[in-house]
Amino acid sequence: MGESQSALFPNYGRYPLTFVKGEGSRLWDENGKEYLDLMCGLAVTNLGHAPKQVKERLKNQVDTLWHTSNLFHIPDQQKLAELLVANSCADAAFFCNSGAEANEAAIKLARRYFQKVIGKPERFEIITFHMSFHGRTLATLTATGQDKVKEGFAPLPEGFVYAPFNDAEALEKLIGDRTCAIMLEMVQGEGGVNPADPAFVKRVAELCEQHGLLLIVDEIQTGMGRTGKLFAYEHYGIEPDVFTLAKGLGSGMPIGAMLGKEKLREAFSAGSHGSTFGGNYLSTAAGVATVETILEEKLPERAAELGQYVIGELEQKLAGNPLVQQIRGLGLLIGIGLNRPAAELISELHAEGILVVSAGPNVIRLAPSLLISKEDLDRGIQAICGILAKKAGAAV
Ligand SMILES: *Cc1c(COP(=O)(O)O)cnc(C)c1O
Repeated sequence: MGESQSALFPNYGRYPLTFVKGEGSRLWDENGKEYLDLMCGLAVTNLGHAPKQVKERLKNQVDTLWHTSNLFHIPDQQKLAELLVANSCADAAFFCNSGAEANEAAIKLARRYFQKVIGKPERFEIITFHMSFHGRTLATLTATGQDKVKEGFAPLPEGFVYAPFNDAEALEKLIGDRTCAIMLEMVQGEGGVNPADPAFVKRVAELCEQHGLLLIVDEIQTGMGRTGKLFAYEHYGIEPDVFTLAKGLGSGMPIGAMLGKEKLREAFSAGSHGSTFGGNYLSTAAGVATVETILEEKLPERAAELGQYVIGELEQKLAGNPLVQQIRGLGLLIGIGLNRPAAELISELHAEGILVVSAGPNVIRLAPSLLISKEDLDRGIQAICGILAKKAGAAV
């Protein structure tokens, strides 16, 4: 393994696996071995691999038109914006190609709103949280509350401060004359599948209201039905001023979105921000088909039910297992916190034909398709619990 001899930069640590075909919750490697996918390419293929609803739309679009640029109207971009706005607290959307770009847009929008609309250029600081993850561009890796993503990339942009997650008192102390926004995930995904406390989120929203700050929710991993609501902020009874989407929005086609409230519209006047590919015909065709499917097939409700089922089964089957510290999650974004590195277990699951992913060093993360069958879930649960039981037996 390793890419030191290949034509690629070695910036990824890859498993020795190559998949050549996918369908629903199944993947096949180049040797024809079948895998059950419980990770969805990092919470992206929420409708499974090559879902027919999206495939047909994409095929049509491939035959028709691919790209014209944002100098012209793009019907599916408009339609996707309307769908997202009609089903959220937001009033306007901007499309880009990835999660980091969506957060970059949110950061730029927050700064520009204070500079151009409110007229308070001294307020540019954004408070984010320890163990958050917001992306890999210079601004979004700076927003990320984990040092490991920042190593070797100095100097980093100014204007970010970090608060402990789920600690409203500590957060309040960091709000000052320079603060313009608070940005957070409702469930920290990369940070270890850590759900925000309801009381904490309520308080964050109150503090934003009280100090005139923008509330930015990063829904890149939690959005699109994954947590049991179309957007995870709905669990908390709050309305962000801005929220960002990517991963599950296009079923695997690259797309990101930044959505915001009406008052923010004028902060992004013509020419202030943009993207050559953002909101193109292919990615927005996939986006429209994905959102329509999620809504028509009531997939958030399904994710909520299945998520409860999985957590219940795991809690029962892993009760008393000395390797397991905590099972947590929301909907079908679930973490099994271990007292040891997850890497070895993940490789053993691969050998059994089960794909899961870690979230931080010690957490096994499950993010299966929202359309996965109960039988497949049971098989995955059995395999995971079996391996953990075997390991625990070996460990004592
Ligand atoms: C994956 C992720 C991002 C970054 O998305 P990219 O498409 O990789 O740029 C940002 N925030 C959260 C919460 C994510 O899970």
